[in-house]
Amino acid sequence: MPIKLYNTLSNTKENFVPIEEGKVRLYLCGPTVYDLLHIGNFRGAIFFNLVRNWFELSGNEVTYVYNYTDVDDKIIKKANEEGVDATVISERFIAEFEKDFNRLGLKKHTHNPKVTEFMDEIISYVETLVKNDKAYVIDGEVFFSIDNFPEYGKLSNKNLDDLQAGQRVEVDSRKRNPYDFVLWKPSKEGEPHWTSPWGEGRPGWHIECSAMIKSILGNTIDIHGGGIDLIFPHHENEIAQGEGCNCEKYCNYWMHNEFINMKDEKMSKSIGNVITGRSFMDQYHPEILKFLMFSAHYRSVLNMSDDKIHQSISGLRRVYDALSHALVIENTFNESENGKVNKTFAQLLKTSDAKIKKALDDDFNTGETVAAIFEVVRAFNALNLLKKQKDPNSLPTTKAFKEWILKYGDMLALFKEEPTSFLADIDQIMIKEKNIDIAIVEALIKSREEARANKDWAAADVARDELHAMGIDFQETSDGVKWNVKV
Ligand code: AMP
Ligand code: ZN
Repeated sequence: MPIKLYNTLSNTKENFVPIEEGKVRLYLCGPTVYDLLHIGNFRGAIFFNLVRNWFELSGNEVTYVYNYTDVDDKIIKKANEEGVDATVISERFIAEFEKDFNRLGLKKHTHNPKVTEFMDEIISYVETLVKNDKAYVIDGEVFFSIDNFPEYGKLSNKNLDDLQAGQRVEVDSRKRNPYDFVLWKPSKEGEPHWTSPWGEGRPGWHIECSAMIKSILGNTIDIHGGGIDLIFPHHENEIAQGEGCNCEKYCNYWMHNEFINMKDEKMSKSIGNVITGRSFMDQYHPEILKFLMFSAHYRSVLNMSDDKIHQSISGLRRVYDALSHALVIENTFNESENGKVNKTFAQLLKTSDAKIKKALDDDFNTGETVAAIFEVVRAFNALNLLKKQKDPNSLPTTKAFKEWILKYGDMLALFKEEPTSFLADIDQIMIKEKNIDIAIVEALIKSREEARANKDWAAADVARDELHAMGIDFQETSDGVKWNVKV
């Protein structure tokens, strides 16, 4: 069964057929490096890490390019404000991005090109466009002529006449069509500049991605990704440039992720409603962010809320509880006990593999993937292996469970932490969030224990009710009372 992708170009799900058998060329528009990324910006990086991993697990070799836009108005503005060179800003924020990215524990991209490293390629790309009569030069500025590319609008389903009727782009009287866009422009005083046939200048934004794609991946790529806001004009313009320059199809499959919203509004710097990836990871944990991303389909809006975050925490706690249980079993049971994986459980692992394959092959249904993982966790817990001290199957079943969970953990970049310390981290997060005084919790637990010892059931009930009212869950175990904060 082939992998099916929703292709923005056709607005349908299509069977994925690579250009070259067993190989996938994937490009995702990366960040403009002038500030820390917010969690909306990270949605693409986290989701396409899964796309890449799933293609690899399905037997493909993936070349994954994620660029740094290090020439841009916003970088120049910040550099001018600080009175430093633009490269100081871009290098600083590339380094900051890399700190966040490493903390997220995603697989390294095959290439992370910077625009500034591809100036020669950009210039020769623009030259070809001029030569092919797809671009024209005015006063040291080069514009793409959309009237000379009749397919303009095919990605975003925009019709040129409609565009012009409702046009809101600022009109530059030198342009032949108001939607003609800049490929190369003269640099103003104090701006970074490169020597070109049209004078000292710098590239427009759209040409950067096209030139890096051509140089690293070739004229035609398999998959191009990005957030939905990039469909128009950025990706529409990339197609016009690519097909205008190479006279070949630019990209076969376009995948766009929806936004992360805050209170029904797009998370965005200009609105000022952002949570940076870094502050989220400081307050919570990188795995909580990733789990949260997979709770919604990539083509649906993910509305951020405390509830969503708490659901992610409790979902992760479920998996890690089972993993920590598995650890106890591994430490308790003897290797020499010669058992087999519980038959029903082994069967469930197989059917769950099939479920996950079906879900991911169908345009990356991560919600169903997570549901299948929960089903396996539930079944493992229900076996109650620790209680079955003499069951020789406990250890092999546990090992099979762990191996299975960690395989999907690798794919999703989840379940990578040591279980006991991760569960303790979650407790700390919740203690802080709910402002819980540990001394009070422990005093109440102690008073309940004493009341029980004295058979003072009424007092024991009072302590229990107070603990519950504080949002504390507890169990009496052979090792004493264990408590945690309800999520
Ligand atoms: P920008 O720095 O605004 O060009 O955005 C970089 C990437 O993040 C692009 O792929 C955008 O589509 C994406 N993006 C920006 N805001 C959001 C958001 N709120 N939710 C999801 N993706 C976003
Ligand atoms: Zn791009």
